[in-house]
Amino acid sequence: MSGRTFLAGGRVIDPANGLDGVRTVVLEDGVVREVRAAAPSASERAAAEVVDCKGLLVLPGLVDLHVHLREPGEEGKETIASGARAAAAGGVTTVVAMPNTRPVCDSAGIARFVLSKAREAGRARVLPAGAITRGSLGEALADHAELKDAGCVVLTDDGRPVMNAAVMRRALEYARDLELPVMVHAEDLHLSCGGAMNEGPVATRLGLPGVPAAAEVAMVERDLLLAELTGAHLHIGHVSAAGSVRAIRAARARGVRVTAEATPHHFTLTDEAVAGSPSPIGPSGQAGEPYDTHAKMYPPLRSEADRQEIVRALADGVIDAIATDHAPHGPLDKEVEFVHAANGVVGLETSLSLSLSLVRAGALPLPRLVERLSWGPARCFGLPYGTLSPGAPADAIVVDPERAWTVEPRRFYSRSGNTPFAGWTLHGRVLRTFVEGKLVHELKEEE
Ligand SMILES: [Zn+2]
Repeated sequence: MSGRTFLAGGRVIDPANGLDGVRTVVLEDGVVREVRAAAPSASERAAAEVVDCKGLLVLPGLVDLHVHLREPGEEGKETIASGARAAAAGGVTTVVAMPNTRPVCDSAGIARFVLSKAREAGRARVLPAGAITRGSLGEALADHAELKDAGCVVLTDDGRPVMNAAVMRRALEYARDLELPVMVHAEDLHLSCGGAMNEGPVATRLGLPGVPAAAEVAMVERDLLLAELTGAHLHIGHVSAAGSVRAIRAARARGVRVTAEATPHHFTLTDEAVAGSPSPIGPSGQAGEPYDTHAKMYPPLRSEADRQEIVRALADGVIDAIATDHAPHGPLDKEVEFVHAANGVVGLETSLSLSLSLVRAGALPLPRLVERLSWGPARCFGLPYGTLSPGAPADAIVVDPERAWTVEPRRFYSRSGNTPFAGWTLHGRVLRTFVEGKLVHELKEEE
């Protein structure tokens, strides 16, 4: 469908252009034609699709830099098609697919496979990430030029760190010359070894082995030094610790090329969730079960002081992007003892609503939050998305910011339902999602 669509009379927020006001967005031939004050005229209405957006938000399609789609290799947990469908439902129009599939995306063949599956699926734009090292084993470098040619937008061994600093240095040098960012999963495997949750009073109380925040911060500091040494662009994935925020802030002040992301679960929950205690900003009284394996992920949920530092960093821009680290797992991976459970939670269908609760809590203004979900992440990797600028791809969402809904994992479009937010009542729902002007999701009445 290359016809025109008017998203008429909503509150349009486009951080890339400093816009926040009642406008009409015109989508045509796959791009944003214009954003204007005037409502569609009678003749325009007759010739086009008009969506009445009065009282609703009209935002750029969201960009999620950190998503595990599990295909190839673990299609029981998620496929590119089911993940793209979940993304569309969550208002996410662009996802960056992590390479830790089976096999790992460390060659052009796998990257092209991901791109062709995504084209077949439609629904959302899927951009592959390529591995830093072959098989993400942390030893021999993958062919970064080949990965870039095949369409990879970032290099990462996510799921694992590159423990060898010399290998990391070499990777950063190649990436710099190829103008690719390098995303790191910051974890010192020697320090984290055997840990199942954040090290601290809650772990002690529960008798679970802890992972100190230093396991993350030490690697963030190391990689910032290597980024400074090489001049490469470092992107820190899933920042969870206050110490990491301080390190990034200081590095940026001295000119290091660094960007960073944080997840909704890290800014919503603390390690108390493992004990079944209520969230600091969740619906009041909402508590879970102690030893709930849906509260297990890497990096682990941290302390309240860490959570507050992440929120501050999202507000002041030290953290550029909200990314979900959407990590589908099946029941067999989670219905086991806490120490043996798989790490990870799904996030695509709850990210926007959880993010909006930061605005409800007064932590940051709505336009800033929208930036962290759209233009902020797009800018991290130099992507031409996350904006309603005229001529940009027509990725847009219509959101009812007040609409309440209850998280029911069995209703997710994702193949997996591993979320600690089951049963939570959240506010803010995506009513329609457009990718390149095509309607890829529309909320059904009963949802
Ligand atoms: Zn990771």
